[in-house]
Amino acid sequence: SMASPALLMRVVASAYSVAEKAATIVRNVMSAGDLGIVEKAGPNDLQTKADRLVQMSICASLARKFPKVTIIGEEELPTDDVTEDLIEDGHCEEILKKPCPAQYTGIKEEELVIWVDPLDGTKEYTEGLLDHVTVLIGIAYGGKAIAGVINQPYYNYEAGANAVLGRTIWGVLGMGAFGFQLKEAPAGKHIVVTTRSHSSALVNECITALNPDHVIRVGGAGNKVIQLIEGKASAYVFASPGCKKWDTCAPEAILHAVGGKITDIRGNSFQYNKEVKHMNSAGVLATLRNYDYYASRIPNIVKESLVP
Ligand code: AMP
Ligand code: MG
Ligand code: MG
Repeated sequence: SMASPALLMRVVASAYSVAEKAATIVRNVMSAGDLGIVEKAGPNDLQTKADRLVQMSICASLARKFPKVTIIGEEELPTDDVTEDLIEDGHCEEILKKPCPAQYTGIKEEELVIWVDPLDGTKEYTEGLLDHVTVLIGIAYGGKAIAGVINQPYYNYEAGANAVLGRTIWGVLGMGAFGFQLKEAPAGKHIVVTTRSHSSALVNECITALNPDHVIRVGGAGNKVIQLIEGKASAYVFASPGCKKWDTCAPEAILHAVGGKITDIRGNSFQYNKEVKHMNSAGVLATLRNYDYYASRIPNIVKESLVP
């Protein structure tokens, strides 16, 4: 039709390009060599120059195009003095050409909330575990994560000089997710993926109770959900507070778009309206398949230790 694309598709198409610009910034800060590390709550809660520049780039770029959308970013920074070189005004044509799912065609700007994690896996970024890093732009409507963009700036970085560095995964509920190959985890095996830098006695107790065949410890909420949709892990289990709404919004939309499920460790779904508490204080449980199997094996003592 000749009608102009629905707002949601315009936001996703712009978020795609904004996330690619973000990835360039993430790589440029690393190659320049001065990470400008700042401790926020402590040594396991870091911010780098890349977190700061990318947050300003994403938030200012999206706010300029969609001034009535609520944008909530992880880093506490001014957004008024953003330099022009950080602004991305492009969009992905291919996304704009796709029809918006019918239930989302009437959405207005003031009804959207965008949750931004400019750099997920900062600890790993500072330690050179570069493929753990993602840029997360999650889009919520009516309190639900309905669309998301995950950019992995260092995807393929160990695959040789001929491999294309970096990728952008995106998805919309009712439409599906793109930019990767969906794969199931090995049948009959329980492979749990969890934190590498935010472990605790409870985190480990919960994993032990699941009696997994294998445990993968990697950084980033975005990276762990990628492991689920690419069949490298069967469950993402994190029995701890610490993960926030900007960590889960984009991954949730993409996981749900391909039939997976993410909740807190007690089975409650996450809410993404603008007034919501930022902390996912009751942890994370996510799977592509067999959610009920894992949910039924989380010990009550673990559930009771984590208050939503
Ligand atoms: P991880 O799996 O440890 O990479 O954590 C996933 C996301 O949650 C990252 O953005 C972390 O920074 C955040 N996170 C998890 N636990 C904590 C914590 N104890 N303190 C600060 N951030 C945390
Ligand atoms: Mg994060
Ligand atoms: Mg972050």
